[in-house]
Order: sequence, then C-alpha cells, then structure tokens
Amino acid sequence: MTDRGTTARVTAGFGRNYLVEDTHGTPRLATRRGKRGDIIVGDQVRVSLDPSGQAVIESALPRASVLMRAEGTREKTLAANIEQIAIVFAARPAFNPHFVWRALLAAHGAGIGALAILNKNDLPDIEPARSFLAKLAALGYRTLGVSAKAGANEAREALMHVLRDRTTLLVGQSGMGKSTLLNLLVPGAGAPTQEFSHRLNLGKQTTSSSRWFGLPGGGALVDSPGFQSFGLRHLDARELAAAMPELAQVAGQCRFADCGHLDEPDCSVRAALARGEIDPARYAFYRQVMAELRG
Ligand code: GDP
Ligand code: ZN
Repeated sequence: MTDRGTTARVTAGFGRNYLVEDTHGTPRLATRRGKRGDIIVGDQVRVSLDPSGQAVIESALPRASVLMRAEGTREKTLAANIEQIAIVFAARPAFNPHFVWRALLAAHGAGIGALAILNKNDLPDIEPARSFLAKLAALGYRTLGVSAKAGANEAREALMHVLRDRTTLLVGQSGMGKSTLLNLLVPGAGAPTQEFSHRLNLGKQTTSSSRWFGLPGGGALVDSPGFQSFGLRHLDARELAAAMPELAQVAGQCRFADCGHLDEPDCSVRAALARGEIDPARYAFYRQVMAELRG
C-alpha cells in the first residue's frame, strides 16, 4: 500500500474507533476497518479520509517501544512509544511493594527508564512507604515523594521537572491518586475522552485503554487504566536477574553462567543474600516471579 494520508498520534481507543491527534493537537475520531487490536495508544499512524469523509487508520509506523503487562495467560499492551514509566503508589488505601517492583521489571523488559513516585506524603504513618522509597533510591532508581492534595504546587513543579520533554506512562493501583496527579499536570484531562465517548453513544462508559495527553511545556503523559495486578509472563526468565540491580551486580560471579540463583551450587546471589547484602523480601520476590515465568 502506498503511504497515504497524514501522520497522527493515537490518544485513546474505543474498540475499533480511536481518538487521534494531528501535529497541531486537534483531536478527531478515526476507525480501523477489518482489523482489531493492532493499534494501541501512543502509536503514530497514517490516517486518510474515505469518500464519505470518515477518517480511517491505514497503518501504524514502527514503534520505538511497547509496554505490556500480563493478566493470567493474556498479554495486554499498555502503550507504545513510551520513554519512561512513572509508578505511583501511596500508603493508603494499601501499600503494595510488589506492584512497584513488578512495574520496574516491566519497564526494564521494555528497555525504558522508570521513576517511583510516593504520593500522599501528607498522610500520617507513612514511614514504611518512605523507607521503601529510600531503598529503591539506594538501588539506583529515580524516586520522588509528593502530595497531590496537600502540596499541589510543589508536586506539579517536582513532576514537571522529571516529565518535561519526555513521554511518560503513569501506572498505579486504583486509589493511589493517579487521576489527581494527572489533573494537576493536565487540567481538564478527562474531557476529550468523555466528549468522544458521548459522540459514539457509549454513554457514561469511557475507555479501558490508556489515554495520551500532551504536556503544556512539551512531552506527554499517558494515563493507564487502573488495574490491581501487574502480570509479567511476557518477560524472559533469563533476563530477570539482570532487571534487579542488586542481583545483577553479583550474578556474574556464580559458578554457572546460566545460574538461575535458585538452588544451584556456588551461587553468588545466594551468597550475597546470606551475607545480608540482598534484602530477603526482594530475593523472595525474585523467586516468586521466576516461578511465574517458568510455570
Ligand atoms: P486513582 O484511582 O489513582 O486515580 O486515585 P484518585 O486520584 O482518584 O485519588 C484517590 C483518593 O485519594 C481521592 O480521594 C483523592 O482525593 C485522594 N488523594 C489523592 N492524592 C492525595 C494526596 O496527596 N494526599 C491525600 N491525603 N489524599 C490524596
Ligand atoms: Zn546464581
């Protein structure tokens, strides 16, 4: 097929209909005929007009990155062309270290950077969450503590600093304050999707896809739909230790080059664990994900 039409960015999906934005940021609906599910938010696509004036997605340009998660045995794409992932967590409603660690592994698997954001810094009793954040920083991850509600201006400034000119996917379990943070950075963020889902007669139901928002100062923020578990079945078990900095640091000294750091003799990872240099909770997490990937 010839390279027809104009290039646009996919900013939301509603089944076979998509919201796309041209280079001026003007949104419009475009359909994908015949195929389903091959276009995802973040894709750059070629759009043309059919004889009735309907915008049609002809093809997608090659992707620089694809972020995925697994749900049971199904793989789900979160977004394309993302440069970094920002993981939002908070002490309440529930503080779940595994969700954050899993998202960090997913970012590594997609070959992109990550940033852990502790929100609701204003809550009392957040010491466990704070020390969790400090441990991530000690492992070399970029971290940030904010309060979207009690310190909105400071939060906006600190976030703009790390988000400016980059394309960032926001992930987090529901209730962590992801929408509050998004609205702080992109006022009125929910409006376009609501308007178009209304036009498509989808009623109150909006979209279960991610949504792409240009940031006022440059760059983009992509909101992912809330989900509770971050399945990683799509990752390669052999790459897992390399994705955990404290394991990667010593893994090269194991007796076997293909050591899985489980029960093999002369394993430098388990030796470091025995010396107290690796957090037992992180090693237990490693074994759990390993079992998942091999299962
Ligand atoms: P989402 O499900 O992650 O999008 O979370 P929301 O943005 O809807 O926020 C969930 C709840 O947490 C709401 O009641 C917010 O008002 C509240 N919340 C968000 N940010 C903060 C914060 O920094 N501090 C406190 N105390 N509450 C917050
Ligand atoms: Zn080993």
